[in-house]
Amino acid sequence: MEKIKMTTPLVEMDGDEMTRILWQMIKEELLLPFIDLKTEYYDLGLEHRNETDDQVTVDSAKATEKYGVAVKCATITPNAARMTEYNLKEMWKSPNGTIRAILDGTVFRAPIKVKGIEPCVKNWEKPITIARHAYGDIYKNVEIKVPGAGKAELVYTAEDGTVARETIHEFNGPGIIQGVHNTDASIQSFAKACFNYALDTKQDLWFGAKDTISKKYDHNFKDIFEEVYETEYKGKFEEAGITYFYSLIDDIVARVMKAKGGFIWACKNYDGDVMSDMVSSAFGSLAMMTSVLVSPTGVYEYEAAHGTVQRHYYKHLQGEETSTNSVATIFAWTGALRKRGELDGIPGLMEFADRLEKATLNTIESGRMTKDLALITSLEDVTVLNSGDFIKEIRRMLEG
Ligand code: NAP
Ligand code: MG
Repeated sequence: MEKIKMTTPLVEMDGDEMTRILWQMIKEELLLPFIDLKTEYYDLGLEHRNETDDQVTVDSAKATEKYGVAVKCATITPNAARMTEYNLKEMWKSPNGTIRAILDGTVFRAPIKVKGIEPCVKNWEKPITIARHAYGDIYKNVEIKVPGAGKAELVYTAEDGTVARETIHEFNGPGIIQGVHNTDASIQSFAKACFNYALDTKQDLWFGAKDTISKKYDHNFKDIFEEVYETEYKGKFEEAGITYFYSLIDDIVARVMKAKGGFIWACKNYDGDVMSDMVSSAFGSLAMMTSVLVSPTGVYEYEAAHGTVQRHYYKHLQGEETSTNSVATIFAWTGALRKRGELDGIPGLMEFADRLEKATLNTIESGRMTKDLALITSLEDVTVLNSGDFIKEIRRMLEG
């Protein structure tokens, strides 16, 4: 069989530990035999990030801006323990944070649905995609622990010296205060990324905030979404037969619980943090989630939602067998290949991505899966496979 040809390279960001091992296996078994794989390779493994003073991370993000599509392996975010383990020059920042800051994106996470892994919420027939705003609010807060009686104020000084001032509270005793912010530019980017993703995936978009209580802050989110929708997206949404729907966050939560799924739920930063863990655990597991960073200019970076699976890697290093789930990493590749095929007009590449995803799901549905899924499946005749054999089974299914 002739291999599928590519025209534009994918930006390939290699990573760390167990996912780096899976990365190699996936390429060897599931990609290279079928595709004339064209990638621009960046090694984001911690050793190489350290050698390049993290320049490689910045370069990989710049390449993503240039080519438009990247696929990323999970990477270590260094902490004190990693400093010694890898003898690091510096405690390098989270690569995801660095890449996100350069691409200015929104992260979309959706569960991968498969028969035998049923959501806890029985009416969730289709996936629910969470779109999380990744800037500001309490993640960029400043706080004061108030020691005793006194007046707390909110003060804004304009460049020309004009001052706006509001009393937060007149304290009679000890307490706490917090200052949070966001920018119109970031909220607009967030809104555009959500509207584009909804059009891309032909799904309705829901957005919830608390504008009745937060009459300026949350209301600003509501207004910006409304304005971006009315001026740029309304026509396109009508054409695509999808809707944009805003409501109060508590009303949205109630509706989500009763819904069938099949929509995108845009969340402010904190809501997205909390709700994505609720949705993903209700659907099964982090290893069964797709994750893609979409920039407002239409640049895509696909990755797995989970980390480098350190515990399994240490077992692997000791020569022990591992049963690590590669589904999310496979879907990162298929997402990127499909998008590349779409942008470059290569239907064969898009078809291959569909076939590989199908083969992956069919393998699980036939009862052959990794240990994490075997523990939660409702299927009865289950064979637990090790990391490598699971990928080989998928290849057999793909070729069969
Ligand atoms: P993790 O790698 O997601 O793993 C946590 C646990 O979840 C594992 O020990 C395993 O449970 C289970 N798990 C996760 N993915 C799995 C898979 N594919 N197959 C089977 N089980 C899976 O999180 P972590 O151990 O907290 O973090 C490890 C490293 O990853 C850290 O250095 C962190 O900085 C990095 N990280 C990177 C990203 C990213 O690049 N996107 C995201 C998060 C974390 P059992 O051990 O019980 O089997
Ligand atoms: Mg969280």
